[in-house]
Amino acid sequence: MKNEEINLLGEIIERLVQSEQENPVVPYLSYDELPEHVDLELTEAGLSDQDWVKSISTLIEHTPKTCTNAFYNQLFGGRHPKAVIGEMLAGLLNNSMYTYKVGGPMIAVEKTLLREIKKRIGYPSSAEGTIATGGSMTNFMAMLMARDRYEPQITETGGGTGLIAYTSDESHYSITKNARFAGIGRQHVRYIPSNDRGEMLPDALREQILEDKRNGLRPFFVNATSGTTVLGAFDPLDVLADICEEQEVWFHIDGAYGGAVMFSDQYRYLLKGMERSDSFSVNAHKMMGVPITCSFILTKHRQALYDSFSYDASYLYQTDQDEINPGKISLQCGRRNDALKFWALWKSIGSDGLRDMVDHQFQLAETARDYVSAHPDYTLYSHAPSVNICFNYKNIPADILCNALYESSTLMVGYGSHRGVRFIRLVTTNAGNTKEDILNFFSRLEGFADKY
Ligand SMILES: *Cc1c(COP(=O)(O)O)cnc(C)c1O
Repeated sequence: MKNEEINLLGEIIERLVQSEQENPVVPYLSYDELPEHVDLELTEAGLSDQDWVKSISTLIEHTPKTCTNAFYNQLFGGRHPKAVIGEMLAGLLNNSMYTYKVGGPMIAVEKTLLREIKKRIGYPSSAEGTIATGGSMTNFMAMLMARDRYEPQITETGGGTGLIAYTSDESHYSITKNARFAGIGRQHVRYIPSNDRGEMLPDALREQILEDKRNGLRPFFVNATSGTTVLGAFDPLDVLADICEEQEVWFHIDGAYGGAVMFSDQYRYLLKGMERSDSFSVNAHKMMGVPITCSFILTKHRQALYDSFSYDASYLYQTDQDEINPGKISLQCGRRNDALKFWALWKSIGSDGLRDMVDHQFQLAETARDYVSAHPDYTLYSHAPSVNICFNYKNIPADILCNALYESSTLMVGYGSHRGVRFIRLVTTNAGNTKEDILNFFSRLEGFADKY
């Protein structure tokens, strides 16, 4: 990095921030129209710095803005500047997080985060964890550890026989995908019904496990969801833990979305019983405003991580003990430093700041829910406490309204469905937003829908 590049970076960031202010939702372009607006072609000769900045800036201008107060489309949003600095530094330093030799103190940064999260879950200090490239992959690691515990020879000889996984009908699709990857098979995933709030029904789980056992099958993995994708619901962990103990099944918590409530004194109760799980996934890139991706997997069973993921590589592990060579418990070989950005944020705002971020999101959700409940043109489908607010406006079909809001550059928001009803899903996961931003969301939506 020379001074010129540092200056170029400053210039590009300025343009990005300006473009976010001018167009919080970028003007809609179809994929086919892109080449007319963005210079995508790669050429024999390179560009001058000036042309390069122009090219990059045009690209940025047309890229969806996920950090503005008009973006509510996914379960992430916003951008904490300290976390972004951490992310950029990780790129500049370019360590790979497999060995202490190459990662140095960054390994300790990661371990510090894992220790703090472990403490909040309530796991013993002997618990272990790592970071993977997202909640889908941390859930995958949990399923693999459970599989390898129930069928240890599978890693050598292949083939699983009658292993059955359980998850609610409201859970994330990664559970099914992972069952395919892990050789469990899609048909060996049981979708346990949930109540109208979107929480798994424990009695139905117990019955299904017992029925499968009677049929000679082998229940091995129960996935509880803490923060479901559509309604933002929290499964009843304590009751599910009872069942898993009684039935001797690995108990995993998919807290990719809502696991972050562990940082809030007020909402931690939603995770009551989490310490009884065998493994726990949590993303810092959803509710915590950390750039994508930053996903943790923790397990009580340190050895399980080694059993499933350790593979000796003499060209790689040449110094230090396993403890500080986290490549030994990783899904990957080379691995980005995803710890630094969260650590940089935490250092800056402290645990108190993390707590405030979570609490603020619930307050924003309350503002939104109150607004929807108080206005007769709206129907509300989600329940407190949740940072997802699901609603319909004047019976306009949710898919049509969401797509029109997007194509008219008004707002970015998505839709979901529960029990056959489709609705708009507003998520208040951008802790940088204010109550006014949320109320503006509704006035923009109404202003658009009423003339549509
Ligand atoms: C987002 C999410 C995931 C997947 O996480 P990625 O980081 O997007 O792979 C898994 N489970 C739940 C409940 C989620 O909300």
